[in-house]
Amino acid sequence: MASNGLKGIRTVRDLNVEGKTVFLRLDLNVPLDDGKISDETRITASLPTIRYLMDHGAKIVMASHLGRPKSAEDRQFSLEPVARRLSELLDAEVMLFDDPASDGVKSLLVGLKKNQLILLENVRFVPGETKDSEEFAQVIASYCDVYVNDAFGASHRAHATIHALPKLMKEKGVGLLIEKELTMLDQLIDNPKRPYLAVLGGAKVSDKIAVIEKFMDLVDGFLIGGAMAYTFLKSQGHPTGKSLVEADRVRFSGEMLKRIEARDKTVLLPIDHVVTKSITDTKSMRTTPGVAINDDELGVDIGPKTLVQFETALREAGTIFWNGPMGVFETPEFSRGTFGVAKAIAESQAVKIVGGGDSAAAAEASGHAGQMTHISTGGGASLEYLQGDKLPGLEVLRQRSR
Ligand code: ADP
Ligand code: MG
Repeated sequence: MASNGLKGIRTVRDLNVEGKTVFLRLDLNVPLDDGKISDETRITASLPTIRYLMDHGAKIVMASHLGRPKSAEDRQFSLEPVARRLSELLDAEVMLFDDPASDGVKSLLVGLKKNQLILLENVRFVPGETKDSEEFAQVIASYCDVYVNDAFGASHRAHATIHALPKLMKEKGVGLLIEKELTMLDQLIDNPKRPYLAVLGGAKVSDKIAVIEKFMDLVDGFLIGGAMAYTFLKSQGHPTGKSLVEADRVRFSGEMLKRIEARDKTVLLPIDHVVTKSITDTKSMRTTPGVAINDDELGVDIGPKTLVQFETALREAGTIFWNGPMGVFETPEFSRGTFGVAKAIAESQAVKIVGGGDSAAAAEASGHAGQMTHISTGGGASLEYLQGDKLPGLEVLRQRSR
């Protein structure tokens, strides 16, 4: 498979932005805990492009979504904490503009000083955003000269500021974050070093089933942990106790295992587990001697024998893609498998790429984030890109002749 990569897409470096009003779509969708930013990765990842535009004399109108507000009254989804943090990090004045659906920004732009930037309030406060509304896009297009998308984590969605707006704009391209994301992810698509292993875990099989389906022909093997492992184990007839199992996926998962094996690819599933009586109870935790789980217990992490198997496989890998923790790593007692896998990935000589919000958090918490080749800021977007899907937010930026 060949990636579409940046083919036909200009980057911010190719655009003339001096003195122009640049609309910069970012992914500033950070987790908020009681109004406080609990992880600012997405903000810091956005800084290079903002700084580039500032250094090159652009008038900058930034925009992002945050969470899933039902209406503009949902103030807990305000970008206000983000605006404050951006001001500090950029040492500049970030003016939060309350009504993204109006063209009132125009008057702000007139007197905009060098050290001032505009941030539109949460674009999802506007109903037209998720509807890919051309009307909403036209309002923004009426005051912008150049469109730049650096919201990798949102580029798989055909929303107004990702899709309808750049359709209307002539001068457009991607920012430095998307450029880096695509360059990194393309290492998994264009002749990946073999063996290529996908380490999958996390909470829901149904979320990831499409991933396995599409990755079946790309990778040489799967290492499966996390809650999704139990649905697969159940399909093989193993007792899984009270573990999270998606009953309506058991048959399908079983068929999928057969199809993977028919392709002569390996699938490693847990051979032992850390189990407990309830997900919040660390006192009753124990390690099972084998694959079976008792009726009154549930699996919360892969066991030590499984970890050894996974470590051995990872040591030989040429390319590793990791999405989904091996257990409930947020609870320290149940984090050993996830952190062990993080360490094994970090220490392998492979090209190693991590995707997914919780996986990125797990890599960070393990202390091994710095040894990864790349940690993607986009969960769903990176998965779709790696599967070979066309991302609406990127396709709309491709120019035919170049
Ligand atoms: P990502 O965000 O990296 O794509 P997911 O959202 O799919 O990952 O899954 C992460 C969540 O899965 C974590 O919050 C973790 O606690 C949970 N999880 C992992 N293993 C289990 C398990 N055995 N039982 C319940 N939840 C689990
Ligand atoms: Mg998640």
